[in-house]
Amino acid sequence: MTGMHENAAKVNLLGLDRRALEAFFAELGEQPFRARQLMQWIYHRGVADFDAMTDLGKGLRAKLRERAEVRVPEVSDEQLSDDGTRKWLLRMDAANGIETVFIPDAERGTLCISSQVGCAMDCSFCATGKQGFNRNLTTAEIVGQVWIANQRLGAIHGIERAITNIVFMGMGEPLANYKNILPALHIFLDDFGYGLSKRRVTLSTSGLVPNLLKLAGECDVALAVSLHAPNDALRDVLVPINKVHPIAELMDACRHYMANQDHSHVHVTFEYVMLDGVNDGPELARQLADLVKDIPCKVNLIPFNPFPGTHYRRSPQDVIDRFADYLWRRGIVTITRRTRGDDIDAACGQLAGQVQDRIRRQERQGRDHMEARV
Ligand code: SAH
Ligand code: SF4
Repeated sequence: MTGMHENAAKVNLLGLDRRALEAFFAELGEQPFRARQLMQWIYHRGVADFDAMTDLGKGLRAKLRERAEVRVPEVSDEQLSDDGTRKWLLRMDAANGIETVFIPDAERGTLCISSQVGCAMDCSFCATGKQGFNRNLTTAEIVGQVWIANQRLGAIHGIERAITNIVFMGMGEPLANYKNILPALHIFLDDFGYGLSKRRVTLSTSGLVPNLLKLAGECDVALAVSLHAPNDALRDVLVPINKVHPIAELMDACRHYMANQDHSHVHVTFEYVMLDGVNDGPELARQLADLVKDIPCKVNLIPFNPFPGTHYRRSPQDVIDRFADYLWRRGIVTITRRTRGDDIDAACGQLAGQVQDRIRRQERQGRDHMEARV
């Protein structure tokens, strides 16, 4: 494994899906099957050091060392919640950090990954949105989150094959970073990559319709849509991208996405954050049921997770239950998401409140430390 400050001209192989890796090997004058061999080392065995890839031959390994690297994000911190949720603070460069969360339950291990540092969508109830937008993550930084989580869980904590599902529900709007998430999705689905079935990789979006339509033709993964309100007046306030792509347009895009999937039993998951007195009343439940009734879907109610400075409050449990009961009565499968990892601020929407501050603090401490040594 090479460090963060290695030669920037080297290609980080975590950023290349199989097709791109084959092209890279062709450029080196190598056979395409080398790409599959290399992927197995990186993704199946978690090996990042070319010298350990014994079936590649000395000459090729030397070439790889010269031209390429497998550079993974640096783990600045790891926290473990009482409920088993783990959160990593990953440092991407001197000024930028993101969070990745692992949520184990009885039959699944879900890794919640980030696609951007911050987010420009500015949803009014989201800590990441309030922090603003810094930059897109590269494909290598997106895939690197899975690589690191696998390494931490397996090699360090002894939990083998822990990650069964990947969800883009960390920081950032994945469809606003389309170019970089697409190869990452390929690597998650590829048998020579993480080999996950398309039902186990979920992209969650606030509703960037043009890129959702584009994705429909290019990659088949499970879709979650952050709806949060059943009418435009309210959604404009909660999810401002709605002013550009209103609900009717978003619903058409969902239907289109579903129509392009090659399974008949697929559904879209509508996420709906429960905000006390804002979007949790019976009239809105009725509007929501009317809105989604002709789309194969599930509704995922997310109890609001508070963060410093927000004026929203979580809906009381009995209000959430009534909302869910109504939707069930209308024939809509409705799940209330359990809040996980909130003791370590790892729950939905709590990510990144203080990440950038912490990265800056660490950077400053590092600098002071260096200066003290000089
Ligand atoms: N940007 C994408 C994916 C990341 S957010 C999106 O918005 O879909 C993942 C989910 O957490 C989204 O449904 C988002 O609306 C929700 N969320 C954001 N802030 C939240 C909060 N404070 N409490 C509960 N859920 C929140
Ligand atoms: Fe961005 Fe999603 Fe947060 Fe909205 S909810 S600000 S899209 S991360």
